Amino acid sequence: MCTDAGCSHASLPRADVKQTGSGKPHAVVEEKTDKLVLCPQCDLMVQLPDIQEGDKAVCPRCHTTLSARWVEPVLQPVTCAASALIMMLFANLFPFINMRVSGIYNQIRLIEIPQAMVSDDYASLATLFVIFVQLIPAFCMVAIILLCLKVKLPYRLKVMMGRMIYQAKVWCMVEIFLVGVLVSFVKLMAYGDIGIGASFIPYCLFCLLQVRAFQCLDRYWLWQNIQSPPPLTKTPQVGLSGLEQGLRSCPCCMAILPAEETKCPRCHTVAHARRANSLQWTLALLLTSVIIYIPANILPIMVTEVLGNPSASNIMSGVILLWQDGSYPVALVIFIASIMVPTLKILAIAWLCYDASDKGKSNNHLDREKMHFIYEIVEFVGRWSMIDVFVIGVLSALVRMGKLMSVYPDVGAILFAMVVILTMFAAMMFDPRLLWDRNKVTNK
Ligand SMILES: [Zn+2]
Ligand SMILES: [Zn+2]
Repeated sequence: MCTDAGCSHASLPRADVKQTGSGKPHAVVEEKTDKLVLCPQCDLMVQLPDIQEGDKAVCPRCHTTLSARWVEPVLQPVTCAASALIMMLFANLFPFINMRVSGIYNQIRLIEIPQAMVSDDYASLATLFVIFVQLIPAFCMVAIILLCLKVKLPYRLKVMMGRMIYQAKVWCMVEIFLVGVLVSFVKLMAYGDIGIGASFIPYCLFCLLQVRAFQCLDRYWLWQNIQSPPPLTKTPQVGLSGLEQGLRSCPCCMAILPAEETKCPRCHTVAHARRANSLQWTLALLLTSVIIYIPANILPIMVTEVLGNPSASNIMSGVILLWQDGSYPVALVIFIASIMVPTLKILAIAWLCYDASDKGKSNNHLDREKMHFIYEIVEFVGRWSMIDVFVIGVLSALVRMGKLMSVYPDVGAILFAMVVILTMFAAMMFDPRLLWDRNKVTNK
């Protein structure tokens, strides 16, 4: 629901208010009318309206959520995070999935997946798995609990945890791993009976609860909870960009700072008004990922050994095999996640860089919105390409029945994981505010 207050794109003084759906935001932010936020995505100075419980304030220019009032802002994230941690413990204790082929039975626990990769000399893949699926999510959940409950901790530690929650969030790949497991099920159905173990349901719950814990944690509120933002030396003008008035938004805690002040006094993050050499870094990372993308597609990602006959397959041949077996939905999922998404993502980032550079000429507001939408999609879908890497992890851990049937990861999997990670870094290095710099709000 959009209130009239902020729906006009012409003068853009106040944030739009929207309902957060089933979520129940709460009275978190101080009840002051002069709450100002510099939109981290488009650099517009916005006044946060007094939002009701269950509503959120979005930027009237780029529609990024600036703040939300969750019902029970402490209880909700803490309950979700604590339950997620308990579920994670259960998920690691019991058998996760099992498989039976020609009378041979094999079952694995979650923690055995990285062990299997290490024994295959793929410690790098095992490390990625442990970091993305276990360590980062666990750390974030602990940090959410401690920060929301305002546990007495040294200020530096609180800042470190607050920074980690938002910087590491994108690397939490619990739900992507779950989709990887489901895809592995379909791949294996052709060979034998697949079953779920006692820890499968706890893992699904862990997945849902951690997503929810992140969702109902409001960044503006969290940092306000840690410490009030540093006082401003000049009065910011609502409706102007930060750059026009010599101000910048801290990329981590959203504090409004003078543009020349590079280190944020609240969260100690070092940044500039615009990310330094943003386009050069983005293009360099993009180019590297394009170079690695070629061998990642040609070289085999895994070797399947059936009755002593090893056969290597790359991404495309895996998709074709699934299609020929009649597993059309899974073939499509792998094709979209592993081939279409990385290719389109690389093209989209290159387009964004072109548009944000001096060569991009459009000054039109609708064009800015369109480019910003593309940026948001790139940010959102990038990490889902890790599905195939996780599928290989699950298969190589579960399918080890000696000469009867075994699956091993191959070098293509590492290269492909590198492509996904590099394109994620490329998207992170891109400064979305560059897309809006030509769009002068006041002149519209
Ligand atoms: Zn904005
Ligand atoms: Zn900061």
